Amino acid sequence: MIYADNAATTQMSDTALATMTAVMKETWGNPSSLYGVGQRAKEVLEEARATIADIIGAEPREILFTSGGSEADNQAILSAARLGEKSGKKHIVSSAFEHHAVLHTLKRLEAEGFQVTLVDVHSDGLIRPEEVRDAIREDTCLVTIMYANNEIGTIQPIREIGEICREKKVLFHTDAVQAVGHVPIDVKAENIDMLSASAHKFHGPKGVGFLYARKGIRLTSLIEGGAQERGKRAGTENVAGIAAMAAALREENAHMAENAAHLTEMRDLLIAGLRGIPHGDLNGDARRRLPGNVNFCFEGIEGESLLLLLDDKGIQASSGSACTSGDLDPSHVLLAIGRVHDVAHGSLRLSIGPEITAEDVKTIVGAVTEVVTYLRGFSPIWRDLMSGKKEFIL
Ligand SMILES: *Cc1c(COP(=O)(O)O)cnc(C)c1O
Repeated sequence: MIYADNAATTQMSDTALATMTAVMKETWGNPSSLYGVGQRAKEVLEEARATIADIIGAEPREILFTSGGSEADNQAILSAARLGEKSGKKHIVSSAFEHHAVLHTLKRLEAEGFQVTLVDVHSDGLIRPEEVRDAIREDTCLVTIMYANNEIGTIQPIREIGEICREKKVLFHTDAVQAVGHVPIDVKAENIDMLSASAHKFHGPKGVGFLYARKGIRLTSLIEGGAQERGKRAGTENVAGIAAMAAALREENAHMAENAAHLTEMRDLLIAGLRGIPHGDLNGDARRRLPGNVNFCFEGIEGESLLLLLDDKGIQASSGSACTSGDLDPSHVLLAIGRVHDVAHGSLRLSIGPEITAEDVKTIVGAVTEVVTYLRGFSPIWRDLMSGKKEFIL
């Protein structure tokens, strides 16, 4: 089996798993309790906070633990909105290819009377910082732009966007769920005010993540209750999950350069191989993308059928976001970069992990080539394309 869907979730590392079970067994106390076992749990929690803060260039008190990336996105955006409306600022700048945790939160705010401007995502899958600058108004309270896209893997010019926001005195949030643990991040150097991350995207457990919020930014809690997380996130902390998240991130960070070098090499081999399939095209810039992301469109086929047949061959991939599978609409990300519906339907995302070998790449290229050819064999769209009834786009 070749697992090539790391953008959907990653397998927990042995280190994360060992940390998790050790904490559950030995440090199972409630961090809010004053006796020994509780205080030890508190220490584990604060150690994890310090580890994570250090890796992204933040201070421990700027890290808030959440249930994952979606919660962190919701809390960051809602907090900025609540701060903004106090001074009559009810405009937010974002982009059309954000994760639904961002887009749906923005929809909710629009229903409350906020205005949202979505800047263009160009056909290379990148946002232009100058267009973000142009979109900022007197009443803008937040810019939220993702660090790396979860479908096409393109890495945005975060530092430049951060600089513009700093200059314009507008809060800047980035959904960095796909980037943390995979590319180096320094929140201070990149002018990031708030950042969301999720453990299960970097070999930690599901159901745990964090929000970095620069000190001085007043967060709004989404969950009322006890005074955990400085009163900004009630509920007894997921100590084992949080410790495992920190262990996973520490490990990914330690191996980041070598993993990225290997993944980049394998990614580029995959891209070169898949370019051999006629009437297909890579989605997003070939270089400015995550080391492990490959995303293609193939004309005349359905991505879903491609996935199922690849699964039969022992290759696990995706047609885009796991959140939209089962949905018949084409990916909002591919539409945002200007793919037409027919083409967007024939998408394939391969998000590879560091265990991948050149042999695996050969296997994948062979299998995709075979399956695409097979599917085109009985596709009515392909027949129309071949007979000239329809024009090729790719
Ligand atoms: C996975 C993902 C999320 C959601 O994270 P969860 O921890 O699953 O809630 C948000 N944004 C991006 C870009 C993601 O890839």
